[in-house]
Amino acid sequence: MAEFGVIGLGRFGARTSMELLDLGHYVIGVDSDEKAVEAMAEVLTHSAIADVTDEKALQELDLANCEVVLVAIGEDLQASLLCVLHLKSIGVKEIWAKATSKSHHQILSKLGVSRIIHPEEEMGIRVAQSLNYPMVNEYMSLGHNWFCVEISIGEYLKGKKLRDVSSEDSEFFHMLLLKKRDEVTTNPSMDMELEGNETLVMAGSLKALKSIAPKLK
Ligand code: ADP
Repeated sequence: MAEFGVIGLGRFGARTSMELLDLGHYVIGVDSDEKAVEAMAEVLTHSAIADVTDEKALQELDLANCEVVLVAIGEDLQASLLCVLHLKSIGVKEIWAKATSKSHHQILSKLGVSRIIHPEEEMGIRVAQSLNYPMVNEYMSLGHNWFCVEISIGEYLKGKKLRDVSSEDSEFFHMLLLKKRDEVTTNPSMDMELEGNETLVMAGSLKALKSIAPKLK
């Protein structure tokens, strides 16, 4: 269990806070808009109405002990950047921030923000990917064009070996695990026969992963 700060309780900030709370974490939520705070006050561990461009107001919020503070202010560039500067000066070590443009991203990165998030863009990529490969349930970018993906095996693959739905490129592809109902096999053998109801989790370069897509059809 950890403590997180979320600054800006718009759609993205509120949704992220809910998810963190569901995962059992503590969340301090801050917004200058009374209504946005009121809507979340009952579920948040702590909430505050404050203008985060005011360093003094930010200081009073006791955010320095948070594992990560997420700056979820997108539209108001000036407020987002000032908030990051103030968080740095009050000693917050790990800052994540939402960016809404390329220049916003560049400045945040120069200010030393650990992770810059483009929610709309990331969501767009996710949607496009899942339309392109409907068997991909979930995927996570690992950077440098590597991805970890979860794939559902359809019944039409019954009787095939795991090898038949894998890439031969062992340098750029790893079959991590196979899930069958509640049973999980890590590093599954390539000789395993599929029943057609499994879920596979694999990691690999985009090229290697794309090369297996035709085998899954
Ligand atoms: P979203 O698309 O996630 O709704 P917005 O950028 O529209 O993102 O919303 C960001 C939230 O940040 C809003 O609720 C807004 O009131 C809040 N916000 C903007 N500026 C400040 C500020 N200076 N101090 C505190 N909260 C702010």
